[in-house]
Amino acid sequence: MANHNGFILLHEDGQTIPAMACETCGEIIKDYRQAGVVWNREDEPRSRVTVLCKTNHCLSKPPYKDKPWQELRDYMVFMAHNTGLKTEADIRGTWESAKGI
Ligand SMILES: [Zn+2]
Repeated sequence: MANHNGFILLHEDGQTIPAMACETCGEIIKDYRQAGVVWNREDEPRSRVTVLCKTNHCLSKPPYKDKPWQELRDYMVFMAHNTGLKTEADIRGTWESAKGI
């Protein structure tokens, strides 16, 4: 298991770039459709999620292959929805600031 929770910062050309990495193999997630999060139903009502890639098949290997999961892109969109961005203008403003990163 990698020594992070999936959330990482890349440092390139003097910029810090928020990114995600597979918690098993450490691969940086570049296509968020090619990764997912898994969790344990037994941990409800508060489950820790584990970020896993599809490219190296970490999502489909034991002990994760039979766990409930969600595509990472969908999970991130749902997370964005829960951040308090309520209007299209809010989203556009945040989107524009992210383009500078
Ligand atoms: Zn992986």
